[in-house]
Amino acid sequence: MQEILNQLKELSYNLSWTWNNEFYSVFEEINKDFWIWSDRNPIKFLDTINHSYLFETLEKKNLKDRITEMYIDYKKYVSADTFFKENYSDIVSPTIAYFSAEFGIANCLKLYSGGLGVLSGDHMKSSSDLGIPLVGVGLAYLYGYFRQYIDKNGKQAELYEKNYFEHLPMHLVTDDHYRPVKISVEIPGRVVKAQIWKLVIGRINLFLLDTFVDENTVDDKRITDILYGGDTEKRIQQEILLGIGGKKLLDVLGYTIKAFHLNEGHSAFLCFQRIADKMKELHISYHEAKKICYYSNIFTTHTPVPAGIDIFERWLVEKYFKTYAEEKLKLSFDEFFEEGDLYNGDSSNSHFNMAEVAINNSNFINGVSRLHGEVSRKMWNLPAERSQIDSITNGIHTKTFLSKYSERLYINSFGKDWINQDGIWDKISALPDEDLWKARNRNRRRLINFVRDTFSSELQSLGAEYEKVKEAEEVLDENALTIGFARRFATYKRGNLIFKDLERLKKILTNPKMPVQFIFSGKAHPKDNEGKAIIAEIVAYMNDNSLNHKIIFLENYELEVAKRLVQGCDVWLNNPRRPQEASGTSGMKVIANGGLNFSILDGWWAEAYAPEFGWKIDSVDESDSVSLDEKDWFEANSMYTTLEKEILPLFYLRDAHNIPVEWIKKIRASIKNLAGYFSTERMVQEYTEKFYTRVS
Ligand SMILES: *Cc1c(COP(=O)(O)O)cnc(C)c1O
Repeated sequence: MQEILNQLKELSYNLSWTWNNEFYSVFEEINKDFWIWSDRNPIKFLDTINHSYLFETLEKKNLKDRITEMYIDYKKYVSADTFFKENYSDIVSPTIAYFSAEFGIANCLKLYSGGLGVLSGDHMKSSSDLGIPLVGVGLAYLYGYFRQYIDKNGKQAELYEKNYFEHLPMHLVTDDHYRPVKISVEIPGRVVKAQIWKLVIGRINLFLLDTFVDENTVDDKRITDILYGGDTEKRIQQEILLGIGGKKLLDVLGYTIKAFHLNEGHSAFLCFQRIADKMKELHISYHEAKKICYYSNIFTTHTPVPAGIDIFERWLVEKYFKTYAEEKLKLSFDEFFEEGDLYNGDSSNSHFNMAEVAINNSNFINGVSRLHGEVSRKMWNLPAERSQIDSITNGIHTKTFLSKYSERLYINSFGKDWINQDGIWDKISALPDEDLWKARNRNRRRLINFVRDTFSSELQSLGAEYEKVKEAEEVLDENALTIGFARRFATYKRGNLIFKDLERLKKILTNPKMPVQFIFSGKAHPKDNEGKAIIAEIVAYMNDNSLNHKIIFLENYELEVAKRLVQGCDVWLNNPRRPQEASGTSGMKVIANGGLNFSILDGWWAEAYAPEFGWKIDSVDESDSVSLDEKDWFEANSMYTTLEKEILPLFYLRDAHNIPVEWIKKIRASIKNLAGYFSTERMVQEYTEKFYTRVS
């Protein structure tokens, strides 16, 4: 028995379980309520569960062999030959360091707020699958990002839950004498210390800095308390820790890094630390060192709107960097400040732009979709003599978001290693109608049960009456067309666009012949009152009886909720203001689960869309001649028409066995054409071929 427990523990400490449905099933079978109580955190689960009960259950439910089988598969996975080894065997481990302010890896690790973090997490996961010699660097936030709940008035409220690192799948990095390894960064008038947590994701290590150590003042401890929390001064401290501290962390751990990948501008102070180190090492000037480092920095930008960029005011930069510039970089503060204010040539500008720092210091720059690449090239308008902005379209880590039912179908049809087979998506798209449809129905039902469970416990916690709770257990229709809309409630994403013409929407929602239901979910940034107002609006529609209970708002959008939604929805809706969605990734998550996309031609969908496998919403580009309201009306109308004339009739067009043959044809085409390409498997290969193996 002890051996089984050891195997379970070893499996739990390697986050490759986050893309293993069998691992989740085993914990659910041991005790589902306890698994949910532990926030699907296997370490907390194993640390707190009664061991005689655990052993008894493993015995009684015959779980021992399944655990051992998982363990053997895991050992095979971490030692197998990989894409990198096969293609780049002549390259001796050029280690790539990947810096990001957030990482979305597992539901229990509250180290992300949204798409940027999930992308970083998926980058780690696919780097592991492909065997890329890569190491991740980030921050260990004590309170992470907030938990959203909707209060009695329909308003978003925020709760900050503490991360107990000792009971999470991570280890404190210690030296030979078991003392925590620490790095320090200088902040005016003092030194801030940070300890290091190590997470293992398949073959990849991710290191996170944590300032909650005894040597620090209370204020400095709080540098790593909340992701995107605090004021701009806290933010600059966080970014100093990430960029400068992150470089020191890699040095202390003995890594020889060949290329530095900056995921968004938050870590751009790293560029200065690299230069400072180079100057010292080679006894060269700032500009000589900058030139050397430039060729091994990679910058990925994620926002097509100038307002979305991280910017610091001059006084703040002066406070934190005057001495650093003079002593470490041998620059005057004015010269230093220019580095964050480069290509606009406006000397009166008093803002220091982190994206400009990154751009100015990186030979390799990319946007995250083809369209975003174009928009970024226009926006930054780089001098012709330097390297230009490329694009590498985002992807998702397929197995992380794949439902257990779809996966079971793929395993039963093609074997356990299905995902590594050549032409697998063609093969999957050729599966029989009945099988694809059965998996689809199971996926939808599982989502609806999840909504019912969540809903009734939400209501119970609000002290609702018994009848209300009972009602909640019966919401939604297992066979109705289910449309999902879930993402951050940033204004440009227009979470409420579908309600633009309420009467027309009502007609769609109350048509008894073609039932349709919408599930919404998403958080607004705590300071974004407009985003919060949109959430309150949707919650009000949810409680509006005239809408037939066909609108659901699911609180606290996080990875586990996202997984259920992308697995269960038939159609995934996305209606941002074009071209503000750099890529968008949630729509990619539905593909392998048999969901279809219905979206504005923005971000990834602008390059992916074809009528055989999805729908577009016609849009007008922003211009002076069209007001925002006119634009919204035009796009909402296009949305209603497509729903009424195409999507609903197609879903309810059934053959004699009640199978929507034409709909399934679309699912086939979607899987065949999109599933392989819009994955981080393809994306990380592209980073490797274009950037990682070309640094000098
Ligand atoms: C995928 C994902 C996102 C990003 O969704 P977009 O469509 O790119 O906005 C945000 N949050 C969570 C939890 C996700 O899983």
